[in-house]
Amino acid sequence: MLKGKTALVTGSTSGIGLGIAKALAAQGANIVLNGFGDVEGPKAEVQALGVKVAYHGADMSKAGEIEEMMKFAAGEFGRIDILVNNAGIQHVANVEDFPVEKWDAIIAINLTSAFHTTRLALPSMRAANWGRIINVASTHGLVASPQKSAYVASKHGIVGFTKSVALETARTGVTSNAICPGWVLTPLVQKQIDARAEREGIPVEKARTDLLAEKEPSLQFTTPDELGQLAVFFCSPAANNVRGVAWNMDGGWAAQ
Ligand code: NAD
Repeated sequence: MLKGKTALVTGSTSGIGLGIAKALAAQGANIVLNGFGDVEGPKAEVQALGVKVAYHGADMSKAGEIEEMMKFAAGEFGRIDILVNNAGIQHVANVEDFPVEKWDAIIAINLTSAFHTTRLALPSMRAANWGRIINVASTHGLVASPQKSAYVASKHGIVGFTKSVALETARTGVTSNAICPGWVLTPLVQKQIDARAEREGIPVEKARTDLLAEKEPSLQFTTPDELGQLAVFFCSPAANNVRGVAWNMDGGWAAQ
């Protein structure tokens, strides 16, 4: 379905971003990976799906590096048809104890980076009259939790940004939508499970089930592959008129 198209997925060396990159690659899209840590492993996993893969290591908190990445991607593949803004970080603390530099980093990586990639990708999407902008927000883009003020602010922010872009592009072939996962068992969440186990002096397995039980009626983690399939749907012709939604995949978390 996506043969000949190019998808850039930020933060795709791990977790949800890698799951989405693989789901888009399985539909034939060439992929630009981004993120830190091991690159060769994720690159090989995507290449195995028979598409072309490039990598750029831009730090998503730095506008200049994002500009370089967008130029690099256009140079490699002509243009970006599908932009997935996924890179994100978390920090957990009460507002009065929240480190200022953590607040700035969370807003920069989880929210402002999407402004930069979107403003740079839109001109060629408009020119082609086709494009898909998919922002990985969170159930925390719809509801809040304590100790996550920066994350919740960034995710509510990106849901709002998604809607504004959807309105600005409403009469074009470019759509802008957000995905709002509940708990997904990735390194980002494993850190929170480990911290909970240590804080409460309980086994990691118990911390994992408690974390689910607190928020998700289904008691199930959403998987990166399930989220990837939702991204594929947003790229399909059936989603041509899906614009500005914040679609939760969260085991019923936000329904409560
Ligand atoms: P993860 O830690 O597994 O992956 C994060 C990715 O972002 C990695 O590839 C990492 O290298 C990259 N990254 C981090 N900082 C970066 C930076 N400055 N520049 C470039 N890349 C950077 O986390 P994940 O759980 O897969 O999270 C992906 C997205 O999904 C995030 O936006 C997160 O907020 C969101 N999300 C996650 C969950 C969950 O339960 N895991 C739930 C809702 C939303």
